[in-house]
Amino acid sequence: MRAEDIIAPTPSGVCCKLGDFHIDPTRPVARALITHGHSDHARAGHGAVLATQETLDLMRLRYGDDFAGTTQAIRYGESVALGGARVTFQPAGHVLGSAQIAVEANGLRVVASGDYKNVPDPTCAPFELVACDVFITEATFALPVFRHGDPDGEIAKLLHSVALFPESAHLVGAYSLGKAQRVIALLRKAGYSAPIYLHGAMERITRYYASRGVALGELRLVRGEKKAELAGTITLCPPSALREIWARRFPEPVTAFASGWMRVRARARQHGVELPLVISDHADWDGLLGTIAATGADEIWVTHGQEDALVHWCNTRGLKARPLDIVGYGEEDDESVSAGTAADRKSDSVAGDAASAASAAGTNGREPLRGSGRGNGGEQP
Ligand SMILES: [Zn+2]
Ligand SMILES: [Zn+2]
Repeated sequence: MRAEDIIAPTPSGVCCKLGDFHIDPTRPVARALITHGHSDHARAGHGAVLATQETLDLMRLRYGDDFAGTTQAIRYGESVALGGARVTFQPAGHVLGSAQIAVEANGLRVVASGDYKNVPDPTCAPFELVACDVFITEATFALPVFRHGDPDGEIAKLLHSVALFPESAHLVGAYSLGKAQRVIALLRKAGYSAPIYLHGAMERITRYYASRGVALGELRLVRGEKKAELAGTITLCPPSALREIWARRFPEPVTAFASGWMRVRARARQHGVELPLVISDHADWDGLLGTIAATGADEIWVTHGQEDALVHWCNTRGLKARPLDIVGYGEEDDESVSAGTAADRKSDSVAGDAASAASAAGTNGREPLRGSGRGNGGEQP
């Protein structure tokens, strides 16, 4: 039996005929297994959804109670039989509730990892390596220029800036599912104990994280706070809000952005970010290669991101590898939103910025961008 007899790629996600299910399908299907709550992987409208309790809860928060016909929760390490296949969910270390899905039949094991990272994150269960025959991997940061480094060092940079500019409010752009809560948890880990402020768009998901036992300390909404009282504070907001009228309510705002893309100087510039923070929820180049090798898989299927670079690396290592060309991943993912179009991503992340990339992390030129907001009426926090 070949892997394709267990799981077959389709343009809208991988499909297991034996078990009659799709994994992270991009169009409505009868039965979907969902790796995690980011909207490019977790869509509304499926007949039945099997996922971790956290992923189901996050889908409910985003899409409402009727986001699927029926739902079934599964724990990490738990296996269920679906038709002729057996599926097991294991932690992916990406965001709260994120899972890799192992599919086994006739002695072959295929692992669909969704999005993952193999570095510690105080807000979710650590990545667990699953040995397999075929490993399906993302490729968001699959170029040698992407080495994410130490997130604690990036948080130290933020806290240094807060100490240096006590009259300023620091605004940290971060995607609302996963990244924002990780930044908050890292700040707490670094000993920052003051209240942390939230843009209204982050409230529900952040409170949900706290309800699941993630220690985030005291959180306050920006809404209703007086401008002067926000001096010296840290606020988490969606990256788009950094450039909106909303940001003008803060005294002398310093803008930061937490993303793996901040390794690329042009990206930070494009977002008008003064303080780029290289903090990513995806594996970096070394993380991808190390994980692929450690799975022992001799066949690698590559989903969204820099597929070509990763497929090429696999081939040089004697591994069979192929891009899956699934349309729709990465489009709404946390870090991919900042990436613009796929074409844009491919062109600007290749080599051109590599030389300046290393210095980007250290950039804290206080080029003020006050007044540069596009001004679309200003989203209320
Ligand atoms: Zn994701
Ligand atoms: Zn993704």
